[in-house]
Amino acid sequence: MNMSNRVVLVLLLATLAVPCFAAEKLIALTFDDGPRPYVLYGLKQPGAPSGAASGANQGMLDVLDRNGVKATFFYMGWRLTPKTWGETPHETNIGVSCLDAAHDVLRRGHEIENHTYSHADLRIAERKKGEGWVLSDVERGAEAVKSVTGSKPLWLRPPDWDLTDDARQDLEKHGFHILTISSQNPVALRDVNSQDYLCAGKGVGCPKPSLAQSVIKTIEQREKHGVYTHVLAFHELTTTTAQLPELIAALKAKGYRFVTVTEYMKIVKN
Ligand SMILES: [Zn+2]
Repeated sequence: MNMSNRVVLVLLLATLAVPCFAAEKLIALTFDDGPRPYVLYGLKQPGAPSGAASGANQGMLDVLDRNGVKATFFYMGWRLTPKTWGETPHETNIGVSCLDAAHDVLRRGHEIENHTYSHADLRIAERKKGEGWVLSDVERGAEAVKSVTGSKPLWLRPPDWDLTDDARQDLEKHGFHILTISSQNPVALRDVNSQDYLCAGKGVGCPKPSLAQSVIKTIEQREKHGVYTHVLAFHELTTTTAQLPELIAALKAKGYRFVTVTEYMKIVKN
């Protein structure tokens, strides 16, 4: 077999081979770009009664707690520096630092992983500043997470999944496990991009009829291909929080169990 045929065969096997049939239906809910206290708690202080709040003012952590769901949060390292609360003009300072929020996220049983320190596009950054800068930004992000959790994060999700193959290989050599949307990986190990960011702000391009319905439709399509495990990629957004009760209820009704990324990979990769 010549080289190019072999490459095609390997790609084909990587796409079609199904080493990833887990015995149960699993969802790993993940949220990028935090911590954002005004999203995690809603626009109220933590500990205050939540009342009948619904929709965009509900805190994400209360919604997850109420549904008994443990999620995975991919944090930007710069937010985990003391006294940082977020950034203007799109975020609201509710008097809780990102760092305090991160400790609370951990205390409530969620997982915290690495979304780099700066949130730069790593492909562009590599072109402009070199691969050394990319490695150190990821390393710095990992250290920031470690300062909260006490141990080095296992997983890295590069901003927009954007990374050169060289940087990917070098990061893997340094022990980073990288989440991907690349079709070179089995479907069950690829992130499902919810595109929830399109629903923030004016919501131009937000999936119709709703984000929750669009994600459920995607999952049903994956099920048609025999895939019953899914890593769902969302962001820490109030608009996403508002969709979670409907989404979680629908997935539970389909028989899905919610796990962290580490637990998911342990089951699905083996
Ligand atoms: Zn991001």
